[in-house]
Amino acid sequence: MKKYVLASQNKHKAEEIKQILGSDYEIITIGEAGIKNIEIIEDGLTFEENAVKKAAAVYERCKLPTIADDSGLCVDYLDGAPGVYTARYAGENASDSENIKKLLRALSGAAPEQRGAKFVCVIACIEDGGAPRLYRGECPGFIAESESGRSGFGYDPVFFLPEYNKTLAELPPEQKNRLSHRYRALCEFKKAKSV
Ligand code: IMP
Repeated sequence: MKKYVLASQNKHKAEEIKQILGSDYEIITIGEAGIKNIEIIEDGLTFEENAVKKAAAVYERCKLPTIADDSGLCVDYLDGAPGVYTARYAGENASDSENIKKLLRALSGAAPEQRGAKFVCVIACIEDGGAPRLYRGECPGFIAESESGRSGFGYDPVFFLPEYNKTLAELPPEQKNRLSHRYRALCEFKKAKSV
């Protein structure tokens, strides 16, 4: 079994990553890798930069194979925003619900066809002190006019998938984990590991 430290404090992401990677991988937390008090400043201008920052900071401390996820939402009507600022769209330490409210306000007046968006996930992996390897996944959809569903996390209640006629938060977790940006990035990661 391949063992990786996950450079993330986000429990929801960790749960999804574990489910997607399945039983061939053992994923341990930063704490389980013996790291206490790590602060990583995510000031990169791209998802790639931030994912590498997270993976490198954790690898530096534990010298164990490490993966990090940096992800976010890019909205066409907002020229790709909030992008790398997705987590703090409504301000430092903003809650999911504050972020969603700000997003819906920014899109008020946008017609359905103008509400295209994509979730992006970049996984950075560092092993044996080598250069970070990057894997990217994207999930296209639309921003709904209001929230629906209670599953998932973050912006899931407003991320609408026309092919299912549902938001990500209305899909069962197993289904989200077979189509999401995180799933697609991790498929690339798994493919690279199996060759
Ligand atoms: P990060 O933890 O710095 O990568 O920030 C990710 C931001 O994107 C947070 O606001 C998350 O809520 C949001 N996000 C990332 N992935 C998802 C997802 O799968 N569903 C909903 N929101 C997500």
